[in-house]
Amino acid sequence: MSIQENLKTIKSSIPEHVTLVAVSKTKPVSDLMEAYNAGQRVFGENKIQEMAEKYEEMPKDIKWHMIGHVQRNKVKYMASFVSLIHGVDNFKLLKEIDKQAKKHDRVIDCLLQIKIASEDSKFGMSFEDASKFTQSKIISELKNIRVTGVMGMATFTDDKSQIKNEFNRLKFTFDALKALQTENCKLQIISMGMSGDYKLAIDCGSTMIRVGSSIFGLRNQTI
Ligand SMILES: *Cc1c(COP(=O)(O)O)cnc(C)c1O
Repeated sequence: MSIQENLKTIKSSIPEHVTLVAVSKTKPVSDLMEAYNAGQRVFGENKIQEMAEKYEEMPKDIKWHMIGHVQRNKVKYMASFVSLIHGVDNFKLLKEIDKQAKKHDRVIDCLLQIKIASEDSKFGMSFEDASKFTQSKIISELKNIRVTGVMGMATFTDDKSQIKNEFNRLKFTFDALKALQTENCKLQIISMGMSGDYKLAIDCGSTMIRVGSSIFGLRNQTI
């Protein structure tokens, strides 16, 4: 199937309130343009440099989402254009995003990455840390960021009930944090679900799915 057909199939199977992020990491601009020409405007990348290069080359009405782990010293390369940063898991990073956003006179939306998987390799903060985080006075003083939701990645496993438990945990975290909202922490987005599990994620309350291989085909590198 073509990229265009894949997109159409996925779009028609998800509810309207769910945002589809087309995860285009490692794929050439020609593939992204095929998705763009089919109407897709939200793209997700996991390397800042690669995203910045694609941003330069592509139409400017695209919303670029950084879905990977962010190194603080590279925030400056995306601060002028990034639309949503999914993987914020510490205060120093949030502070750097605020600082760089300020230079461009922008407010950058961020999601807190919550650790829901049992694997040690996955990044993210605990529920306790996230709730302290959203309530802290220092965060309310960062005027150039907005925390708009949470993001999580389930364990890489075939065990659907485990994945479901992990998604439910993220939904629970979201509901609890949502109740604590402050000036610049207003939670609306739950980013969970990838090619293999986005239907389950939507059943568990996802409002934003990050789908790569089901749109663009398998990637050579395992990232
Ligand atoms: C690569 C990636 C995805 C997409 O994975 P697919 O299985 O190809 O859909 C989603 N989220 C993150 C954080 C990723 O790195």
